[in-house]
Amino acid sequence: MFQSLCRKTQVLCTRRVREQWVRSFMVELQPVEQIVLVREKQDHNGPTMQFPGIWLRDNCLCDACFHRNSLSRLPHGWNNFDTKVKVQDLSVNVEQETLHINWSDAHRSEYPLEWLRERDFSSANRQRYLSHSYRPESQHWSGDQFQNILQKFEYRDLVSRDDTLAEWLRTLAIYGVALIKNSPLDIGVVKTLCNRVGFIRRTTYGEEFSVKSQPGAKNYSYLAEPLPLHTDMPYFEYKPSLTILHTLEQSVSQGGWNLLADAFYVADLLREKHPEEFEVLSRTRVDWADIGMDNGVSFHNIWRAPVINLDADGNYARINHSVPQRDSHFSIPVQRVQPWYEANALFVRLAQEQAVSFKTTPGDVLTFNNLRMVHGRTGYDDTELNVRHIVGGFVDWDIAYSRLRVLQKQQQQQQQQRLRQQQQLQGQKQVESKLLSQVQ
Ligand SMILES: [Zn+2]
Repeated sequence: MFQSLCRKTQVLCTRRVREQWVRSFMVELQPVEQIVLVREKQDHNGPTMQFPGIWLRDNCLCDACFHRNSLSRLPHGWNNFDTKVKVQDLSVNVEQETLHINWSDAHRSEYPLEWLRERDFSSANRQRYLSHSYRPESQHWSGDQFQNILQKFEYRDLVSRDDTLAEWLRTLAIYGVALIKNSPLDIGVVKTLCNRVGFIRRTTYGEEFSVKSQPGAKNYSYLAEPLPLHTDMPYFEYKPSLTILHTLEQSVSQGGWNLLADAFYVADLLREKHPEEFEVLSRTRVDWADIGMDNGVSFHNIWRAPVINLDADGNYARINHSVPQRDSHFSIPVQRVQPWYEANALFVRLAQEQAVSFKTTPGDVLTFNNLRMVHGRTGYDDTELNVRHIVGGFVDWDIAYSRLRVLQKQQQQQQQQRLRQQQQLQGQKQVESKLLSQVQ
């Protein structure tokens, strides 16, 4: 009796698994365009996945075409790549959920449908990939919106919890700013945060830097004077991307307030309301420079780039602005100089209008996107009893986005595992109750 029940369970389990997991697929080739279409049959209104033939051939996953350990395409196929390669026939292995293609060059390829789903060329899927896996889409904010978009994170959560770390990086990617609260008043906080992301970015001023009033300072930010809105280090081609400013001591005087504005929003205003000035600021290269010495090492940094830098899609890639670090060399034709000054003066005025001010307290760590935010501070009285001491450091976006993607993948895998366990448990319960009803 016991044996036969077991056998019966097994048969039922297998059938159930088939019903639940095996789906059927429609595959079709558009022969002229050589586009492969794949759709799940039971989902008639569902999206049709699209794959160009040439892309499928280029991305064959067999051992001759793809190196599994490095997850990279093997290069030799490109020594003589046949751009006219054609799909000869195609089929889906329903049990294994794989697409099979025989090619006109006598090659044969096999693609898991799960892998294809991730890479579907449909516009919705490309959008999903860009905003989820590539980079979260930025949301630009006006000064009035600052209180709504500012997110605060507890330092101890950030150093101990991966979900908080991911949320902080996502917030920086979307809004360009986030505030960390209750960090220890310890000189190592900036380095700890940088190491949590990956590693600190070294510059001509070393790794961490201390901002406090220094008599005879060689850099303008080391004076107690007001520091107008600017981005840090526009004179670098590889400009440090995330600024981390830890408040160790705060001036009790009236001043020392932080100023911050979303220069992407300012660029939006220009683009919309002042298109000519926008054009000038996004097309005129400005000479940014920093000449001096730090720790006994002389440097002479120059980078020529516009104030508003656009990528190939016309989106903002980077803002450069710093009055002290704009060189007196201005290598553009003379008739383009006056219009640039008009446009830049407008940019500065709009940035000032959109700037918010707030005063950090000891233990606060202000973090922001240095490719996007302009920041500054009001002046303050610096005396022996009234000190302001900020420790700063940088992390590069490459490192931060990489960490975010790794964390997101971990979260996704954990979620899938939980889902699978739930489904297994549900399946078992259903089989058991079916069996029980049959036995009864
Ligand atoms: Zn292959």
